[in-house]
Amino acid sequence: MTHALCSPAAGESPALPEQPSPAQPTPVDTERVADLVRQLLSALGEDPDREGLAGTPARVAAWYRDFLSPASVVAPTCFTEKPLSGQLIVVGGMSVWALCEHHMLPMNLEVAVGYVPLGKVVGLSKFGRIAQRYAGRLQVQERFTREVAEEISRVIDSQDVAVAVRGTHLCMSMRGVRMEPARTSTLQAGGRFESDPILSQQFLTLVTNQWKTA
Ligand SMILES: [Zn+2]
Repeated sequence: MTHALCSPAAGESPALPEQPSPAQPTPVDTERVADLVRQLLSALGEDPDREGLAGTPARVAAWYRDFLSPASVVAPTCFTEKPLSGQLIVVGGMSVWALCEHHMLPMNLEVAVGYVPLGKVVGLSKFGRIAQRYAGRLQVQERFTREVAEEISRVIDSQDVAVAVRGTHLCMSMRGVRMEPARTSTLQAGGRFESDPILSQQFLTLVTNQWKTA
């Protein structure tokens, strides 16, 4: 593991050259998407030339372009804070949208991250950016949870990372079984979060308390 994903804090030596982010999505072909949306409208029995739909293909294509092209990799700032080593840090309250890859319908993912720093603390907002980057694509919640945990592990250079996600899937709420209140929870726990049941329990208690009051 390298520190390549962290930009140096003031006064520190420069980080190693940045590594390409895994699985960078290919840019969206907006012209083609607009054309296909037009065809989709026809296939759905609509007249794509009627007034209300005239601008729809271009709008939908622009939305896909923006949604599926999350901000490029931003090197998170790491601060060296020796006194904070060993403390459990939980960052919750992050909410991102992804598209379920089985139905291409939105899913809302509430994300909580826990980690135990080894002298290296990551700027809190960076976790939200990492979550956003892995959400802005066709996803499944289980893979999203793992990818976010793996990237945070790389950033803080430690396996002591846990990520809990609570998902609301429109493909469950508005189609199929139509269970609006259904929520799916996933947990990826590594390092001490896997081997230390007390630490794991502390993390889950903090997370579920946050979710209860949300
Ligand atoms: Zn689905």
